[in-house]
This record gives sequence, C-alpha cells and structure tokens, in this order.
Amino acid sequence: MEEPELSYSRAFKQITKSASSSLPLAKILNSVAKSVAKALRATGCSIMLLSPQKKHLDIVAAYGLSGMYLKKGVLDVNKSLHEVMEGKTIAIFNAKEDKRTQYPQAADMEGVSSILATPIFQSGEVAGQIRVYTREPRRYSHTEKDFISTVANIISVVLEKAELQQALEDRYRENMSKSRKLTEIPKLPPSSLRPSTFGHPSEEEFARLLDFYRIEWLYEPRSFPLQWQGDRVTEMFTPDFYLPELDLYIELTTLKQSLITEKNRKVRRLRELYPDINIKLLTKNDYLKLLAKYGYGSRGATKVRGIDRVLFSHTQIQRRVKALAKQISKDYAGKKLVLVGILKGVICFMSDIMQYISIPLDIDFMAISYYGNNGETTVKITKNLDINITGLDVLMVEDIVDTGMTLNYVLGHLASQGPSSLRVCTLLDKRVRRLVNVPLHYVGFEIPDEFVVGYGLDFHGEYRNLPFIGVLSPEFVDEAQK
Ligand code: 5GP
Repeated sequence: MEEPELSYSRAFKQITKSASSSLPLAKILNSVAKSVAKALRATGCSIMLLSPQKKHLDIVAAYGLSGMYLKKGVLDVNKSLHEVMEGKTIAIFNAKEDKRTQYPQAADMEGVSSILATPIFQSGEVAGQIRVYTREPRRYSHTEKDFISTVANIISVVLEKAELQQALEDRYRENMSKSRKLTEIPKLPPSSLRPSTFGHPSEEEFARLLDFYRIEWLYEPRSFPLQWQGDRVTEMFTPDFYLPELDLYIELTTLKQSLITEKNRKVRRLRELYPDINIKLLTKNDYLKLLAKYGYGSRGATKVRGIDRVLFSHTQIQRRVKALAKQISKDYAGKKLVLVGILKGVICFMSDIMQYISIPLDIDFMAISYYGNNGETTVKITKNLDINITGLDVLMVEDIVDTGMTLNYVLGHLASQGPSSLRVCTLLDKRVRRLVNVPLHYVGFEIPDEFVVGYGLDFHGEYRNLPFIGVLSPEFVDEAQK
C-alpha cells in the first residue's frame, strides 16, 4: 500500500490543479471530493454549503455515494453533525447509533459506519463542511484530520475565487446592458452562489425567481422510494425543489402532456405512501402564470415593472408582524387597546397585526392629505376618528416613518384629545431620513433610504396589492416623474 504522505501529496497536487483551473465550480468540487476519498482510502466524500438562510446544508459535490444516500432528506444544521457548524472537526465512529447523525437508517442502508467531518470557513464564519465516509468502523489520526482541514481551507479559497469571478461577471453584464431590462430575472447574488447542477433550464429560472422573492429553496434534497421488490427499491421519485419555510416540495413539469400524466401518477403514489409530505406539481401553465404574476416570462405582465429587488418576502413580513403583535399583547395585557391607522398605506399591516394581537381591541382610521402653499407642504386631516379616544390606550399603527413630519403632526392631534396613553408601532423605519424626532415604540424593520412599495404602500396608486415589500428602481421613479 502507498505511504500516507505520498497519497496526501498526490491528492494535494490533484486538488490544487483543479482548484486553479477554469472548470465550473461544481466540477472542481467533485474532483476535490474524489481526491479526498482516494487519499483517505474512504468509501465516499461529500461537500456541503450552507443555504442562504443558514438553516440547511446543500450537498454541492460528492464522490462514491449512492443517489439514494445523497438525497436522503433535508439536512438540518441543528440535527446533522451540528458541532461542525460550531467550527469543530468531528469523527463519528458508529453512524448508525450516534445521536449526532440525522439519518442513521440511511447510513445503515448505505453501509456507512464512520464519518469524518470538518468545517469550511468563509470570512471567519462556517459556510459549509466536507465529510468523509467509510464502510469499516474507523478512528481517524491527527494527520488525517489535518489533511481534511487543509483541504477545507483550499475549498474556502476556491469559493472566494468563484464569488469574485461572479461579481466581476455581474458588473460586466451590467455595464454591457446600459438600460437594464426590467423584465430580466436578476442573476443570483454572489453570496448565494450555489453550484447546483439543474436538470433543466426552467429549474434554474425557477430557482432565480425564488431567490428574487427571498424564498429559501433546496434542490432535490430527497428521493422517495415508490416501489419495492423485496428489499430492492424499483421506483423512486425526486421532486425538484423543497421550500423549507413553506414545508413544500415542488415538481416542475414543463414537458409534454403525456409526461405530466406520468408525473401525476408518481405524485399521487407519493401522497399515498407519505401522507405527511406536502407536494405540488407545477405544470408549464401554472409556472408561466406564476412568472407572469411577478412580471417575468413570456406572459410577463407589467404588474411588477420597476421593482429592483425584494426587500422583505411575504413570510419575512408575517414573521416580524407576529413578533410585534406578541410584544404588544404582552405590554398591554389587561388593557383595552385602540389601534389607530392613517389610510391607505397601513391597511395590510393593520389587518395582519390586529389578527395576531391576542388582547381585546378596537380599530379606527384617519385620512390626511398634503397640500402646497407658497412652496410649503402642509398636512390636513380629511377624515377624523369615529371613536372618542379620551382616557383610552391608543397605539398609532404606521406603515412607514420617513421624515417623521406626518407622524409628528398626527401625534399632536391625537395627544390633544387626552388619551390615557399614546404610543407608535411602525412596520418600516427609514431612520436616515428623519427630520423630526418622533418616539417609535415598536419597529418592524429599519430600512435604507430607498423608495419602497407593496404590502399596502403605493407609487402613484399602484403596487399596494403586492404580497411583499420591494424597492422601486430609482431610474423607474425618475422616468415616471418626468
Ligand atoms: P414622513 O412624513 O414620515 O416623511 O412620510 C410619511 C409618508 O410618506 C408615509 O406615510 C408614506 O405615505 C410616504 N412615504 C415615505 N417613504 C415612502 C416609501 O419609501 N414608499 C412609499 N410608498 N411611501 C413612502
């Protein structure tokens, strides 16, 4: 047998050669996985990266492992060898019995006994890991652990190089197209650089759409056995995407009707065998409709024309609104609350937050208008409250606080009616633009100085019905105001 030093030096030679090549990232990482498995005389090796929301691991390269094992299920950072994400190199002697293994049964079926895993760092934080698998139970030496950590460091450099390259390409593309087409789906930002090898261009397009809307996705994380002959699996189904936030599998069909029928059969069988699994089959028609709704694809309408990027997805907004409502319910426990909003921008926020607040409450609305007088803009109340708020606990609910002028005026008006208490809850706080210092007790998100629309907020009477909050491109705003 070859001396270990010799096999390490052979592996480093091969790894650094592919790392410095111009091969696509997925190919480089696959070649690294192969060299590592060979040098350590292991059964297999996999390389995983953290998903953008940092909750899951995506297998981006592998060698020597079966498709069934690689697609055994979603890898949760808290359940799958979690100590690696804390920056430790760990060796599992018996994967079938060790509590740190998320899928012990899959390891058993694959015949995996021992696992060696080490973190891959990027900018001082754990960004992924490399794992080595053996059939025989094995204890790893310091030299073997050092070897794998050094490979992890080389992978960090490879990832940084790929990010840099992607950033340069993006800049080049932007310079090339002077007027950026608004209907073009933006490229993945370098931070979410994920070398998934998509089976079909429509899958890549769908992944970009999910990225744009900040919906987390994992590509083909799980294969479901559908039929067996004895112990042998004779039919499997691997849905294209899993969306963890929605706990939903998605299978895209952009193919012929005859193939859709076959996929429908598989989805039906999957639902029978795995009743807890949520899966949706997205036909070409559904898919085009979805793209069109967001202004993309061949049927792209003009609905979301001008949106530069999504700042907060629907799920992110809901999560934050729930947290605010919980705090408010706690702070006002035992009191009867009146929520006051200014029409119309606040309607989505008001209707969501009032449903999440668990104490008794009433709501009321005011309307205001701005009018110019000798170059000065003045606020005027065009609809007053219906309720008499004297002696009541009033919480002013705002969509966005910008300069603070409007809120300052309205708070003065409400305070003059003698409420028992008066506080402010705003979903968005554009603090950098503040001119009048108004006290904000509850803030959803602090945002930069950009014009945002959606979730009730409009631009010239449009965009209020978007389920997310997006930034309007400044060129689009300038153009519309000409
Ligand atoms: P302020 O008086 O704080 O400057 O402005 C408050 C009002 O300006 C908000 O209630 C909202 O109607 C409008 N506003 C400020 N910033 C934005 C923004 O980014 N998007 C939208 N749609 N409206 C905004």
